[in-house]
Amino acid sequence: MTKHYKNLKLVVEDSLLESIYQSSCVHYPKEYGGFLIGKYSNDFKTLYIEQSITAEIFKSSRVEFTRESNYLKSEFEKLFINKGLYYVGEWHTHPDGEAWYSSTDLSAMISIAREKNVKIDNPILLILSITSDSLKDFNFFILNNERLELYE
Ligand SMILES: [Zn+2]
Repeated sequence: MTKHYKNLKLVVEDSLLESIYQSSCVHYPKEYGGFLIGKYSNDFKTLYIEQSITAEIFKSSRVEFTRESNYLKSEFEKLFINKGLYYVGEWHTHPDGEAWYSSTDLSAMISIAREKNVKIDNPILLILSITSDSLKDFNFFILNNERLELYE
């Protein structure tokens, strides 16, 4: 599917969303999350989200998900060298919650964009609203001027 924010496009396969959902539902009713991996077109107007890496070290509860701040540097380097893909953002679930960001989510994204080893000014946040047996809703956001804007 393709989503839009102003003149920017985001392209993601339904099968990737499905596999993200599958990896998170075993953690229900706790939140779960990971990294979004992809690439931008040469003009940076289209973002292709191609893979997800689930977080291995994290703290989570029904209302919070915090991954370890260290990136999986060697894994990311391999993806870049072998496939030309790189880190483009984050995802996590909101079990029985809305597919909308919290104030904690916003401040986490702002600090991610400020991290020196992240060479991305506008990281993406995907939030999935899940229930005990289904993916109810999801939204992609882009961090722009310290605000999370919705891809529609
Ligand atoms: Zn959240």
